[in-house]
Amino acid sequence: MNILVIEDEKKVALAIKKGLESEHYEVELALTGEEGFFRLSSRPFDLVILDLMLPGRDGTEILRTLRKKDKGTPVLVLTAKDTLEDKILGLDLGADDYLVKPFAFPELTARIRALLRRGRGDQAAKLGLADLEMDLVKRTVLRARQAIPLTAKEFELLEYLLRNSGHVVTRDMLARDVWKETLRATPLDNVIDVHIGRLRRKVDEPFSPKLLHTVRGVGFILSKTAP
Ligand code: CA
Repeated sequence: MNILVIEDEKKVALAIKKGLESEHYEVELALTGEEGFFRLSSRPFDLVILDLMLPGRDGTEILRTLRKKDKGTPVLVLTAKDTLEDKILGLDLGADDYLVKPFAFPELTARIRALLRRGRGDQAAKLGLADLEMDLVKRTVLRARQAIPLTAKEFELLEYLLRNSGHVVTRDMLARDVWKETLRATPLDNVIDVHIGRLRRKVDEPFSPKLLHTVRGVGFILSKTAP
């Protein structure tokens, strides 16, 4: 998977590159808008991470130009502030998703995985880890072949954890992607913890190995082994 990162803040760009390479993505960097243009016209990429605020030719111009000839490449826009205008502008111009800076690295990789999955168009009908199985069509969950009744929210939460299994999921990611609470007017941490607790009791407590782990101070991870 080849990812192009167009970001003028060198420290941020290098951190993204290093992080993504450790997840086995191939990464090219463009530190200016001009370089971004050049690289985009030189070869295809599987995904583009684009900072909107660039000196010279800014991100919106790059996005507009890219979308004129290429509708398919997923573009994840980085915005400096959680301003509605930035978001709307980015999505209007054809970005597939956005991330507000500063962001935690797990949020970036989760977003990338989701975009690449969407791009491939092969949404699996089943998800699983160890003896935990989720059928997205029948909306059922089995653990050790036993049916586990879940509420709609618990199902959604478990689906999100399964889609990111092996990777840390932060409370911010859950607030945004499962609870669709982007502005965090009221902290959802308690609500999230309560749902995680219920899910753990249903899916994990009577079984082994334990799959749902808390990563102290960060969030949660679904994994066969404790982090
Ligand atoms: Ca910038």
